Amino acid sequence: MARRALVIGGSLGGLLAAHLLRHAGWHAVVFERNEEALTGRGVGLGTHPQLIAALRRAGIAFDATMGITVAKVVCLDRAGNVIVEQPTARTMSAWSRLYRALRDALPAQDYRLGKKLRRIEQDARSVTAIFEDNSSERGNLLVGADGIRSTVRAQFLPQAQPIYAGYVAWRAVLDEARVPRDAHRDIFELYTFCLPEGEQLLGYPVPGHDGDTVPGRRRYNIVWYRPADSSALDDMCTDASGHLHSGGIAPSLIRHEVIARVKTDAEALLAPQLAEIFLRSDPFFQPIFDLESPALAFGRVALTGDAAFVVRPHVGAGATKAAIDATVLADCLGRGAEGVAGGLAHFESVQLPFGRDMVALSRQQGAYLSAQLKPMAQRRGAELRRDVEALLHAHGNRSDQIGEIVAARGLEVYF
Ligand SMILES: Cc1cc2nc3c(=O)[nH]c(=O)nc-3n(C[C@H](O)[C@H](O)[C@H](O)COP(=O)(O)OP(=O)(O)OC[C@H]3O[C@@H](n4cnc5c(N)ncnc54)[C@H](O)[C@@H]3O)c2cc1C
Repeated sequence: MARRALVIGGSLGGLLAAHLLRHAGWHAVVFERNEEALTGRGVGLGTHPQLIAALRRAGIAFDATMGITVAKVVCLDRAGNVIVEQPTARTMSAWSRLYRALRDALPAQDYRLGKKLRRIEQDARSVTAIFEDNSSERGNLLVGADGIRSTVRAQFLPQAQPIYAGYVAWRAVLDEARVPRDAHRDIFELYTFCLPEGEQLLGYPVPGHDGDTVPGRRRYNIVWYRPADSSALDDMCTDASGHLHSGGIAPSLIRHEVIARVKTDAEALLAPQLAEIFLRSDPFFQPIFDLESPALAFGRVALTGDAAFVVRPHVGAGATKAAIDATVLADCLGRGAEGVAGGLAHFESVQLPFGRDMVALSRQQGAYLSAQLKPMAQRRGAELRRDVEALLHAHGNRSDQIGEIVAARGLEVYF
């Protein structure tokens, strides 16, 4: 009989882990705390070769409907003129497009909604997940793919907490049909930066609501990084009834005046093409956090995806890192003689240094933004100023940087 894997968390990380374990001969079942499918979630998402390889291994082709390839990266000044332009080859997908593909390819009975993990018990022979509804499930392995506020991690590593990076990402998406004609002509097909002092904005096209990549039915995606100290963040995360949602507030609960303020700032600070798109959208924000787990394997339990390490979104590699975790996990568990605990120990020895490197790269990319809360005299190097050419080059060549880390940590053998 196939060995049974309990995967906690039904987002991209959990789905990728489930698929790759199944490919390696496991019977993997996903348990997601939400009562309903997560289809409405998520916005634009960067893709890299390792993500595509993992999807292929899961039997999912990364065809033309999966993303939109942009050939040029530009930077606009406040007046909307191009100040720097470089070639690139990034394919931008959408969270919902990947989620749908991964979810549809899993048997319905092996994706269980409304299952919130409470705690885990394990012995030498098995591991048991106990859920908030008092039900329990037993397996040979448990994968914690339950995100930045992981319940699995909290049980084994209560000291490993996300650290606020000092800025938020405002996100906005607008249907292509609603993008003003001038903005569409100037930037829709491009990867576009705008760099107000102390801030950073980028925009790019992504698949539409149903994963449509047909011109006219796509969407435009904006990410606008803005510094906010802890008290400003608390204010932004406080809803109209005065309740503070520390760690992040649901888009529907953000107060009207917070949205009105960012829209006023958009008009004052952004290139007009980007401001027009932003003003027509329903923006929301996500605080940016760093997280590094000091361990990833606990007997029959492993951490993957954002539960293990959170890579700031500059690298556009959250899903790719989850795919690399899933690939390495499945391969390590297939090494037969080592058993589950031995396979997981091997997984940890490979993925800990890789995760640390990815977090370090993302911190470096966000150093200028984090430093905005420091007095000028204390800022150093990349914290003080940014080189626009280098910034665009780094974004345009992100897959190469990830490939270098994969190679340096000896992970190429898994792909
Ligand atoms: C602003 C921003 C921009 C981003 N941009 C990109 C990008 O361009 N490209 C990219 O690749 N990534 C991006 N990411 C990151 C990406 O969304 C994630 O890294 C990726 O989806 C992998 O996450 P995950 O599945 O491990 O965790 P999550 O997506 O957080 O999913 C965790 C799941 O576990 C469930 N869960 C939590 N607790 C429990 C419990 N107790 N029991 C059961 N279920 C539970 C949650 O409901 C959730 O569905 C971005 C992130 C942010 C914040």
